Amino acid sequence: MKIGFIGLGNMGGPMAANLAKAGHEVTGFDMADVAIDGVMKASSGPEAATGADVVITMLPNGQILRAVAAEIIPAMSKGAALVDCSTVDVESARAVSNDAAASGLLFVDAPVSGGVGGAAGGTLTFMAGGSPDAFAKAEPLFDIMGQKAVHCGDAGAGQSAKICNNMILGVTMAATCEAFALADKLGLDRQKMFDVVSTSSGYSWTMNAYCPAPGVGPQSPADNDYQPGFAAELMLKDLRLSQQAAEAVDADTPMGERATQLYTDFVDNEDGLGKDFSAMLPRFEKRSRG
Ligand code: NAD
Repeated sequence: MKIGFIGLGNMGGPMAANLAKAGHEVTGFDMADVAIDGVMKASSGPEAATGADVVITMLPNGQILRAVAAEIIPAMSKGAALVDCSTVDVESARAVSNDAAASGLLFVDAPVSGGVGGAAGGTLTFMAGGSPDAFAKAEPLFDIMGQKAVHCGDAGAGQSAKICNNMILGVTMAATCEAFALADKLGLDRQKMFDVVSTSSGYSWTMNAYCPAPGVGPQSPADNDYQPGFAAELMLKDLRLSQQAAEAVDADTPMGERATQLYTDFVDNEDGLGKDFSAMLPRFEKRSRG
């Protein structure tokens, strides 16, 4: 396939490289001048999109996605597919989907889980929204860039799944960290706490697979001085998207709201910026009630 790829950052760069490695003809564009193995360089978004069967975008946020889409949609051939893999607000995904449809294009919102390791290793999980035709066109590319793609429903469904998942992730990480800090103050050994909780009803991915306590459980960013991993500011971005979506549909999400406040304090007012999102544990360790 002829593929245009726009946004060649930490995630987009290795994803584009994997498509090229698999034999596709990939033309890439990024505002920053970056060179990616096997990917031809375009000098603009529309140049990368012209003549492509599929255009993939991997951009920082919904506002940038809307601006890029407004530029590239007129350059794309009828019947081609625009596949946005960025994490953006549901409204932006649906707006771009409508614009694409009005120009005779297919659209899939397909945010990913798996981080930079998954992007490099081709083991991402894609959660996709769009028509069956649009999904079918993108699926062979998901198979190269990832290990699993779930078609969640119509346009916006991929973003909806992503922010619900990550709202759970933010809430459970905060809960796991505060529980460890409470256990410390109760004089409970962290390893014993892990041994019990990881095999009891309090278990979760954050405890069992990504334990925030250094030296306990499997290797995680806690064992590397909380270098990310998944940075606290990216967690905050996704939590804010969850609250924006909850506002839009009038959903009551008190735990998501509290987690958003905690990560806002941590990133904006404390020392969380640039640390892994599990560094909530040393934050709680230092605090007392009230
Ligand atoms: P990044 O900042 O490394 O990459 C974004 C790239 O987009 C940059 O290279 C930037 O120069 C480029 N860009 C910005 N505006 C542009 C424009 N108008 N035209 C062309 N290029 C433009 O970010 P990333 O970590 O690669 O994340 C990309 C997306 O993936 C985000 O939406 C993020 O939330 C999501 N995501 C990231 C991770 C992760 O672990 N990094 C995990 C899952 C999802």
